[in-house]
Amino acid sequence: MPELPEVETVRRGLAPVMEGAVIERAEVNRPDLRWPLPERMAERLTGARVTALRRRSKYILADLDSGETLLIHLGMSGRMLISGTMLGQFHHDHPAPQKHDHVVLHMQGGARITFNDARRFGAMDLMPTGGAHALLAGLGPEPFGNDFNEPYLAARLAGRRTPIKSALLDQRIVAGLGNIYVCETLFRARISPLTLAGDLAETAVHGLVPIIREVLAEAIEAGGSSLRDFRQANGELGYFSKHFQVYDREGDPCETPGCRGTVTRTVQSGRSSFWCPACQS
Ligand SMILES: [Zn+2]
Repeated sequence: MPELPEVETVRRGLAPVMEGAVIERAEVNRPDLRWPLPERMAERLTGARVTALRRRSKYILADLDSGETLLIHLGMSGRMLISGTMLGQFHHDHPAPQKHDHVVLHMQGGARITFNDARRFGAMDLMPTGGAHALLAGLGPEPFGNDFNEPYLAARLAGRRTPIKSALLDQRIVAGLGNIYVCETLFRARISPLTLAGDLAETAVHGLVPIIREVLAEAIEAGGSSLRDFRQANGELGYFSKHFQVYDREGDPCETPGCRGTVTRTVQSGRSSFWCPACQS
């Protein structure tokens, strides 16, 4: 499941091809993904210029000069492929159409952006630029935004009787954090995922803000290197290898210097928490 850094990597990969460019033709090959696609989607996209490519939480938002914004959600298995353009030092020829190429944007100048999604948990929709959308409603602040800060987080966690793990996954508190980066954040902060949010000392809560940003920024940086190396050699964006300290490392020795603990997996609210019981308390 792509999380904020993966989505940001896809956005950064798409931006040079999409920003300022006109969608010459849109191919919409089925009526729905996870939900029905918007009515007359191909027609509404055709001829529109992309004025900006933004990200909100795990959504990519392409603002169009038609006054609408194309919302893109990669879901579980959605992939974006770029072809027909020079990226880095590689030129990607258009691949043969694949099964599950659900939406293809033919850009003026010859570049092509293909959205392929075998499991169809992804979504696309059109909304008025600056308008509301059900998927964006109620989202908390962006982790890198000014509204996400120490007093804000302390106020949101105060008195909460839910584990800090669940609180940080709550998109109303902070947008875009998923299981992987919450595990990594709590490890770095040496906080047990089982600790109740309201029981954390104020200093511990304040410490979480820069750690969340650091963990995400490092992952975005790793994604950036994957773009430079080229875009996974086949024009596909967004999936890059990244070293995790605890995520998916059950049974490995803890990486905290001097700690002799072992990374453990605990299921909380149906999700796996990876953590070191020896140094996270
Ligand atoms: Zn440890």
